Amino acid sequence: MFSAHTDLASLLLLPARDAAALASAGLDTPAAVLAHFPKRHEDRRRFDDFPNQETSHAVCLRGLVIDASLKFAGSQRRIYEVVVMNGMGGVFGSGKITCRWFNMPFIQKIIVAGHEVIVHGKVKDANGRLIIDHPEFEILTDDGEASIHLDRIVPIYRNISGIAQRRLREIIHLLLHQIDPATLESSHKLSENSTRAAAFQKIHFPESIEQAQSARRRFALEEFFTLQLNVVWRRSRNAERKGRLLGNRTTYLKQFYASLPFDLTGAQKRSIKEILADMRTPRPMNRLLQGDVGSGKTFVAMASMLLAIDSGCQAALMAPTQILAEQHYLTFCRWLEPLGIRLALRTGNRDESSHPEPEGEPQIIIGTHALLYDSVSFRDLGFVVIDEQHKFGVAQRASLILQGVVPDVLVMTATPIPRTLTLTIYGDLDVSVLDEKPPGRGKLVTALRVAAKQPDVTKFVKEQLKQGRQAYLVYPLVEESEVLKAESATEAFPKWQKRLSAHRVGLIHGKLRPEEKDAVMQQFRQGDLAALVATTVIEVGVDVPNASVMVLHHAERFGLAQLHQLRGRIGRGEHKGYCILLTDGKNPEALEKLRVLEQTSDGFEIAEADLRLRGPGNVLGTLQSGLSDLRFSDFLADISLLREARELADQTLAADPHLDGIHRAMRDLIRPTDHPFDLPTTA
Ligand code: ADP
Ligand code: MG
Repeated sequence: MFSAHTDLASLLLLPARDAAALASAGLDTPAAVLAHFPKRHEDRRRFDDFPNQETSHAVCLRGLVIDASLKFAGSQRRIYEVVVMNGMGGVFGSGKITCRWFNMPFIQKIIVAGHEVIVHGKVKDANGRLIIDHPEFEILTDDGEASIHLDRIVPIYRNISGIAQRRLREIIHLLLHQIDPATLESSHKLSENSTRAAAFQKIHFPESIEQAQSARRRFALEEFFTLQLNVVWRRSRNAERKGRLLGNRTTYLKQFYASLPFDLTGAQKRSIKEILADMRTPRPMNRLLQGDVGSGKTFVAMASMLLAIDSGCQAALMAPTQILAEQHYLTFCRWLEPLGIRLALRTGNRDESSHPEPEGEPQIIIGTHALLYDSVSFRDLGFVVIDEQHKFGVAQRASLILQGVVPDVLVMTATPIPRTLTLTIYGDLDVSVLDEKPPGRGKLVTALRVAAKQPDVTKFVKEQLKQGRQAYLVYPLVEESEVLKAESATEAFPKWQKRLSAHRVGLIHGKLRPEEKDAVMQQFRQGDLAALVATTVIEVGVDVPNASVMVLHHAERFGLAQLHQLRGRIGRGEHKGYCILLTDGKNPEALEKLRVLEQTSDGFEIAEADLRLRGPGNVLGTLQSGLSDLRFSDFLADISLLREARELADQTLAADPHLDGIHRAMRDLIRPTDHPFDLPTTA
């Protein structure tokens, strides 16, 4: 018996060639090789019937190669074709399938007539011939190892250069039997009732697909535990830092309340209370304020900042774009200048002389990233609000915070994130949720229409414009190389100009320079433009209360959460909002997705649906969280698993807060971060 952690080459268990190939893939110990988990399993106790038509999913076929030939298509393309016949005689189906490889000359040395093979792939119909292009395949040999490769559930691995699929499977099988199972256990027992060694056995050579899945879940728990341990570690390190005591004077807040023409919602009041409680403790606040577009986050931010400056320090709000910074600035001026608060705007390249500087030092400073690089902006920064934080880089967040004593930080996001993901992405933040909409706002209706109804849609838009409203006409981004037929905003612009010839129509997209974008937005905001043809650049936070219509073209090409964000731009004023989703209607899955938007306006519900329909990997990708490279990201939808990981992490650090006692070995799991405000992984 060997230890799982010895150097593989020195074990002399494998031929040097194999050990070298594994080592160059970074697998230099038995433990590392065993952690090369299968990407899928193939149930080779029975194979699929040879199909007689195209298949929508991959099939797994076993048969005999009866013909192999090299064909040329033009001077460049070489196609290697192999005909596989059903070994069972073709009782069902066509009994024959052609496999093709394009420009892969080495394949013709590997697979030839006479071989018994297993092929795996999606079957398509090419002019009556059934074909699998570039299948995964394996050649069956009579080498007495049949029990590993056949008549069982067989692991299929991602390829490692220099090692054939079969060989890798044999090596892993060998290691599972030759290494001391005790050496596979980890320093921290996550599960009482099964050993790690048993889980390795089950993940590679399961007796049932369910068994493999439960072994994967176990390893997922390990991965999430590490993640959560880091999160809880950062939380407690943060709690040890010296923060500020703020919020003991409430004069400004009372004046602010008295000046509002409306009462704050219950959710707003609750959030302000939670923030205030944080401010009054000496540990630095680190809180996330989550709420749908229009849920009133800005007012919570204002109230909190008033509490902060009442204690004599300065407060800053950082927005991801110039447009948003200016918009916030105007809102703040409107509500806070009457209270005598000194406000300043700080953005990058814009000449700010159009906004008069207050006399005396500003109490509240609003700006973009430029704030970060300008350390003279602040004398005594005590409170920071970061709007739409996932648009910010981690490093930027850190550098702001490193400028002085640790300020209290409030992160605002309008992206509703499913609870499971919150625990992971924002795990080191406390969370306040605005789950209640302010009353008396324009309602929003959403309707799904096929693209052929464009004339009706145009008519509707015209009617709205005639009533003095404004419209957004939104198009997805189109890559130039893309074969998919979707028109871009630029192409659609002249069409809309013609359709709405009685009105002024503007165009805004990401390729415009920031000043140009600003100018267009400014015109739209002032009502000089009645309609705006746009890409998703209007997504974040833009507020034009008079805009009541949004037409989303090729809606199937947007993510659900993104569509929800976009439509949040309308129905913000007193007017009823109309969101029209136009789609070609060809893809049933896309229709199902879009119907979610017709049915609910609850951002969290939509986020959950998005997660369900697209899977955590994709959702995380768009959140730019850096978490999509998790090994087991598919388990991120498993809330009970995440909770379990969090509880284990809490228990661990409760028992050994600095990981220098009984859990000393786990200190290795803590990843260095530049700063306790960092996210779990680099964004
Ligand atoms: P968010 O920042 O979450 O998108 P805002 O704070 O900008 O939302 O508020 C959206 C709109 O609702 C604004 O026009 C604001 O004046 C209004 N509003 C906010 N809170 C209330 C409230 N409690 N009652 C009525 N209207 C409110
Ligand atoms: Mg806002």
